[in-house]
Amino acid sequence: MANTATLPHYGNYIDGAIVPPASGEYFPTENPYTGEAWAMIARGNKDDVQAAVAAAHRAFEKGAWPEMTASERGRLLWRLGDLIIANAQHLADIEMRDNGKLASEVVAQVRYMGQYFQYYAGLADKVQSQVIPTDKKGVFCYTKYEAKGVVAVITPWNSPLTLTSWKLAPLLAAGCTAVIKPSEFTSASAVELGKLFEQAGFPKGVVNVVTGFGKEVGEPLVAHPDVAHIGFTGGEIAGQMIYEQAAKGLKTVTLELGGKSPNIVFDDADLDQAVKGVVSGIFAATGQSCQAGSRLLVQESIHDELIARLIDFVSKAKLGDPTQMDTQIGPVATRPQFEKVLSYIEVAKSEGAKCVLGGKARPDLGAGLFVEPTIFTEVDNSMRIAQEEVFGPVLSVIKFKDEEDAIRIGNDVLYGLAGAVWTQSLHRAMLVTDKLKAGTIWVNNYRATSFTAPFGGFKRSGIGRESGSETIKEYLETKCVWIST
Ligand code: NAD
Repeated sequence: MANTATLPHYGNYIDGAIVPPASGEYFPTENPYTGEAWAMIARGNKDDVQAAVAAAHRAFEKGAWPEMTASERGRLLWRLGDLIIANAQHLADIEMRDNGKLASEVVAQVRYMGQYFQYYAGLADKVQSQVIPTDKKGVFCYTKYEAKGVVAVITPWNSPLTLTSWKLAPLLAAGCTAVIKPSEFTSASAVELGKLFEQAGFPKGVVNVVTGFGKEVGEPLVAHPDVAHIGFTGGEIAGQMIYEQAAKGLKTVTLELGGKSPNIVFDDADLDQAVKGVVSGIFAATGQSCQAGSRLLVQESIHDELIARLIDFVSKAKLGDPTQMDTQIGPVATRPQFEKVLSYIEVAKSEGAKCVLGGKARPDLGAGLFVEPTIFTEVDNSMRIAQEEVFGPVLSVIKFKDEEDAIRIGNDVLYGLAGAVWTQSLHRAMLVTDKLKAGTIWVNNYRATSFTAPFGGFKRSGIGRESGSETIKEYLETKCVWIST
């Protein structure tokens, strides 16, 4: 264990300044590749939450921010986007160290985040209200949109900066202010992002970051009476608790939760294309992705051929140091997640699924939290490995007979985040797309996303949508004005 006193210490970012936590305590954050602590993170508590919400509330009510026009807010967001793009390597280095993200992916992801802010920069002054024709004489009626207020932004560890931006960019375009509570496993990048807000010229207090644990920071933040909306991405258990707490305060929420998405391959699919899509669907980000295609549904007649091709393709994947450009699969991001993934592999074996690839940790690769890319065949959709979110590099393969069977199995889970269909038949593609209960469906691709397209879940995968032009309304109230003429 490194001498923690010499490690960089990350404070909270409150009212435009990096400040030590009220507790005076810091906790270590670990690099999942080296197994070593690399930084110390402020252990925030309710006092830090109080200070951050007060700063965000002040900034929302008075001063430069509420005086700005929407175009002026847009210009600040554009400048922030430029700063993110200019600092992409620095921010990406932190995500590699804290989360084990791959060098080959994360720099581009951070740059894209800059563009994400710039998309909402352009939208800020394009939210148009309406003149309402009514059945009343002698009155003029119109709507206007007003920012809701302080938004709590609570994020998980799997894609820290991207998921923070998904909330931050539209809420700022709408004119809200924010208190960010990043995951306790990956907090440093949010604090670094906070510093860029100051450089971009945002007024103090518009964006604040309080680091720490769910109970000590997340709960008082959600319960705070001056928080108007909660934007949460994370697991179902915390999501439910937040929803209950929000109900007590009659606050609005956006919940982006888990998934168990079906990746459906028909017998007429282009198998070369499908193999690549299945692999990236489940093994990108070491399977730690809400939209992972963790259930592969294969039509019976092509099952053996597809599995043989998958094994051949995946067994050549290079596991290793995430900072090396040729690494294809990195470590699992946190120790508890590493243990959870390994325990699900044991559950799958005990349920009778057949492990045809991987299935083990890789201590031979050093201290890193490596789990082999793992494929289980002979999975029945009722097994836990098919129903529960593993959030790791584990693929469950389930056979189906025809379209009806694929749709039935695809929908037979509590989640509804995403799904994909691989076929050359337009009829099949449209039929399955119409019947799958999920917020995103891909046809002959997996993972296409854009800041212009809405993303979110049906069923237990969440409430509301992120990205796209409509999302800005999640952060706005509608006011209806009647004027006697
Ligand atoms: P998590 O629910 O454990 O934690 C998420 C965040 O909530 C953390 O910051 C945590 O400290 C905080 N938190 C925990 N309990 C809280 C409480 N009672 N009150 C307030 N805050 C609380 O999730 P995780 O393990 O960090 O992330 C993995 C989960 O995130 C997976 O289920 C994954 O599917 C989901 N996810 C969803 C999406 C999506 O867009 N749908 C995207 C990425 C990840």
